[in-house]
Amino acid sequence: MRDESTAAAPYRRPITQALLLFTAVFGVLFALLNYHAGDYALMALELLMAGFAASLIRTIARTRRLQLWIMVFLLPFFTVMMFALTTAAVVPSVFAWVLLIPILSYLLLGRWLGAAVAGFYLAVSGVIFFAQFGFEHGYSELRSLANVVLVAICIFGFSHLYEASREHAESRLRRMAQTDPLTGLSNRMHLREVFMAALARDDAAQAMPLTLLMLDLDHFKHINDCYGHEAGDAVLCMAARVMRERLRAQDLACRIGGEEFCVLLRDTHRDAAITLAEDLCRRVRAQPCVYAGQQISLSTSIGIAEFGRDGSDLDSLLRVADRRLYQAKTGGRDRVVA
Ligand code: GH3
Ligand code: MG
Ligand code: MG
Repeated sequence: MRDESTAAAPYRRPITQALLLFTAVFGVLFALLNYHAGDYALMALELLMAGFAASLIRTIARTRRLQLWIMVFLLPFFTVMMFALTTAAVVPSVFAWVLLIPILSYLLLGRWLGAAVAGFYLAVSGVIFFAQFGFEHGYSELRSLANVVLVAICIFGFSHLYEASREHAESRLRRMAQTDPLTGLSNRMHLREVFMAALARDDAAQAMPLTLLMLDLDHFKHINDCYGHEAGDAVLCMAARVMRERLRAQDLACRIGGEEFCVLLRDTHRDAAITLAEDLCRRVRAQPCVYAGQQISLSTSIGIAEFGRDGSDLDSLLRVADRRLYQAKTGGRDRVVA
C-alpha cells in the first residue's frame, strides 16, 4: 500500500503523536478513576490502550506508512471509546467523547476514509445510546437527545466541509507549484517528482524504458530582438502547444528554463524517442508562430538520454541530454542527437 498521507498532509504526524501522548497520560488517569469506581474491565482496557499508545510513539515518528499506523491506532481507540459508552447509564457525560470522533477522523484520515470511519462509529454510539436509555427515556429527555445528536451532526458536517475545502485549496496550490505560468507545462520541480514516482512505481525502471529529451529553441534571442519579448512569449506558448499535441498522456512535458524544455517519455526506448524527437523538430519547423500579423519561423534542437544506458538518476540524465543538445547546436541546430 502506497502511503500518500505523509506528503499530502504533513500535519497528521504531529497530531497523531499528540493524540498518542494524550491517550497514554489520560488512559492511566481514567484507569485510576475506574479502579476507584470498581469498573475493572474498563480500567484494564484503558491501561491497555495507554500502553499501546505509548508503544506507538516512536513508530509514528518514523514510519513511512503513516496512514496505516493511524488506522492501527485509531480503530482500537474508537472501539474502546464505544465500550466506555456502555457505562453511560452511570456517567451520561461520557457521550461527550463521541464528539471527538469526526474531528480526529477527518484530521487524520482525510475526507472519504474519515467520513466512513466517523459515520460508522457515530452510528454505533447512537445504537449504544438507545440501548442505554431506551426509546422512552430518550424521548422524554428530548432536549438532551437533541443536544447530543445536533452537536454531533454539526461537528461532522463542519469537519467534512473544512476537509473538502482544505483539500481543494491544497491541490490548487500544489498545481500552481508544479506549473510553469507562461506555457502551462510542468516545471522542473514537477519533473523531479514524476521521475522519482516513476522509479518507485516501476521497480527502479528495470522493466520500463524511460527516456529524457532536452529541447532548446534555436536563435530564440534573435526572435526576442526582432519581434519583441511578447512575441517571444507567444513563440514559447506555441512550442508548448506543439509538444502537447504530439505527446501521449503518460509523457510529461516541462519548461525548465527560458526557452528550454524537457520531455520525460515513459515506456519508450531510445529508437522510439529519436523518431518522436525528429517529429517534434519537424512540427516546430512546419508551424510558424503568427504574432501581430507576422509569421515567426523557428526551429529546435534536441538532446536525448536514456535511463540505464546514460545514467540512473535524473541529474545524470539531464547532464547527458544537455551535452547532446550542445552537440546538436554545434552540429548546425534543428536536429536530434542521441
Ligand atoms: P541557441 O540557438 O544557441 O539556443 O541561441 P538562443 O538565442 O536561443 O539562446 P540564448 O541562450 O542566447 O538566448 C535565450 C534567450 O531567451 C535569452 C533570454 O532573453 C530569452 N528568454 C528567457 N526567458 C524568456 C521568457 O520567458 N520570455 C521571452 N520572451 N524570452 C526569454
Ligand atoms: Mg537556452
Ligand atoms: Mg536557444
